Amino acid sequence: MPEQDEFLSFLDEGKQSPASPGGVTERSWQVLIVDDDLDVHTTTEFALGDVIIQGRRLEFLHAYSSREALQLLRQEAHVAVILLDVVMETEDAGLRIVRVIREELGLMHTRIILRTGQPGYAPEIDTINRYDINDYKTKSELIRNKLYTTLTTAIRSYDQLCRLDASRHGLEQIVAASNQFIVKQGLQAFAEGVITQIAGFAGIEPEGLICVSTHLTSAADNSALNFYPIITAATGRYRHLIQHQLIEIDDARIVEHFTRCLNERRNLIDECSLTLFFAGHEGQDFAAFVDSALPLRKLDQHLLEVFCVNIALCADNVALVSRLQEYAFVDRLVRLPNRQAFINLIDQRLKERACNQWVIALIDVDQFTEVNDMLGHDYGDRLLGAIARRLEQPPLDRCLIARVTGDKFGVFGEEGVVQPDVLQSILTAPFEIDGGEHAVSISAGFVQLGEDSRCGEELIKDASIALKHAKSNGFGQVAYYSDSVGTEIRERTRLLHDLRWAFNHHHLFVVYQPQVSLHDGAVTGVEALLRWRTEDGQFVSPDRFIPVAERSGLIVSLGDWVLRTALHAVTRLRAAGHDRLRMAVNVSATQFRQPQFLQTVQETLCDTATHAKDLELEITESVAALGFDYVEKLLRQLKAIGIGVAIDDFGTGFSSLSYLDRLPVDQLKIDKSFIWALDSQRPGRRIAGIVIELGRKLGMHVLAEGVETATQAALLHDLGCDSAQGYYFGKPMPLEDLLQWLSTQNGAISCCD
Ligand code: C2E
Ligand code: MG
Ligand code: MG
Repeated sequence: MPEQDEFLSFLDEGKQSPASPGGVTERSWQVLIVDDDLDVHTTTEFALGDVIIQGRRLEFLHAYSSREALQLLRQEAHVAVILLDVVMETEDAGLRIVRVIREELGLMHTRIILRTGQPGYAPEIDTINRYDINDYKTKSELIRNKLYTTLTTAIRSYDQLCRLDASRHGLEQIVAASNQFIVKQGLQAFAEGVITQIAGFAGIEPEGLICVSTHLTSAADNSALNFYPIITAATGRYRHLIQHQLIEIDDARIVEHFTRCLNERRNLIDECSLTLFFAGHEGQDFAAFVDSALPLRKLDQHLLEVFCVNIALCADNVALVSRLQEYAFVDRLVRLPNRQAFINLIDQRLKERACNQWVIALIDVDQFTEVNDMLGHDYGDRLLGAIARRLEQPPLDRCLIARVTGDKFGVFGEEGVVQPDVLQSILTAPFEIDGGEHAVSISAGFVQLGEDSRCGEELIKDASIALKHAKSNGFGQVAYYSDSVGTEIRERTRLLHDLRWAFNHHHLFVVYQPQVSLHDGAVTGVEALLRWRTEDGQFVSPDRFIPVAERSGLIVSLGDWVLRTALHAVTRLRAAGHDRLRMAVNVSATQFRQPQFLQTVQETLCDTATHAKDLELEITESVAALGFDYVEKLLRQLKAIGIGVAIDDFGTGFSSLSYLDRLPVDQLKIDKSFIWALDSQRPGRRIAGIVIELGRKLGMHVLAEGVETATQAALLHDLGCDSAQGYYFGKPMPLEDLLQWLSTQNGAISCCD
């Protein structure tokens, strides 16, 4: 007999109609009489017809040969006792079918009483031992009294065996259920599972409700104020009640059962329903109610208690697992799938169907770090939330949307939808944050899926590569992934990796290039320039590695180190008698926007015992992107301390000239491209003159960069340029070489020969 049926057979006992007066139920014990003598059937039935054993009547089944007996037993699974005649077709026909009953039909609980009409004929001892024969009587012994005693013992034994078996299966089910519940996702699925389990126990249809009750506790005395039970799961005809409050249920009986069960914190079992109590943690108890049209047999209380305790423990685990699942896969800030969930969902989609008409896009909010730095993280969080909600709107609601990292969102959908103009049009309208409007510019990287659609992880990687490429072209740009883009970005990534390594292993150093007055040839300052020589002795140009360091943020620690090294060099220069040289240090916009930038500079001046007047910071026009107010404030603070400020590579950016007028800048450095154009017929040859004029009008110093020839120096002198820097005067050199070089200058350099 299959295990499940066996278990249900025990539970079947619940499917009885109400007990009749006197405690007799309509259920009966099946007794099979196997005998080829018709009289034996009638006599036995007559003798025991009105007998009641353990509250049940007897129901007789009849077989007149061993073949008939087996046929009948194949259909009837619940025969309690077989009164089996030994001698029928053959002398041992009865004995022969014992083996079949036990071994083939698997009826292990059925009690077998052998009967023989021939006194003195003893059945084989072997059969009795091997096949669990429960009694052996001669037919003459089977008078009513003896039969009654024999049957009562046999039926009791049968009943106990069945109960034991059911308990064992019940426990096995609980254990199996506990394991299953732990991996079930979500409390609702869990609660439905509990209803099914209880119904299984009681052998009834899985129709029921689970109600979770949250106790509100008074802070003052820790007493429970009230509880608000909510239906978390419901099956069958109760399904529509999910998420309703208990009191909303239009069935006084159910409300009463739940209320009593939760208040009294105990199981309630009545004839037609079962309400089980599960003590939960953190003030959340729950109760399950299952209904039965038929009266429930008195269920094994002990078993039910074990069940309830186990399930209550499981409920805690399920809640924990659900929470962990949520932490692991849902971005809690914007309530969208996170990177891992995005990867899983894409993988799942790729498995389900071909997606070669699909596109993945990675969207990045331009200058989001600035928003965070300047307007605060709360503001930044609200902006991200608003973007997330916008991305959920049509037509993107047909796509998978996720927050992949910080300010990067992922969109995966059909190519007709996931397109640059669709994304731009959705995200360009300003967002309302804190009552104000905030417009964002976005950059995006796209990957068109091919025949060989790869996994989610790789697609996101390629999309980030495309995004990086888009961003390297400026704000508000988009790019599609291609193999060449992939190669370029991978090279850049390798460069960054090597640069980090070089920095950590002290393979970077600083060189100093002199700055000379064009009026008298005196050395007025030096510019600190970073150098990277790889292990094989090759130099990597700062024009290659500085942008990479800027994009990755590494420039912040690199820049700090350059500043510290350069200021240490100032003390060495001062010690050598060059106490009027100003040290120019390049600062990138990424460093400039660090909230602690000013403090870092002050601390470094302090640590190196140098003066603010010894230092000039070179910024480029790119800092204009940080916003005029921010830049102006910081420059004024720097100036207030006495630090000089120069605008580097002047003329290459496109910042507003009106800004320049209002910013406290000391010096303009004309970009070398305009200096090289000076003595040629190239366009731009007049720019240097214009910048010099501009500087003079604004009251700023003007320095010419990249001066390589005497002609350039002379032209600049004639144009009224204040100072110059370039190979013509001196190449960037290590500190020791600089000290040596300075000692040979005799204070002035000829600049106009
Ligand atoms: P920059 O600040 O404009 O530095 C001047 C660049 O011009 C230096 O290039 C210098 O070696 C080069 N140079 C000077 N005179 C001549 C000349 O006569 N002819 C030619 N052909 N070149 C000349 P370098 O050292 O390769 O640096 C390139 C850029 O990298 C720098 O431009 C600067 O923007 C950046 N950089 C260098 N060091 C640092 C640093 O420590 N921090 C930051 N943020 N940027 C740095
Ligand atoms: Mg510079
Ligand atoms: Mg420059």
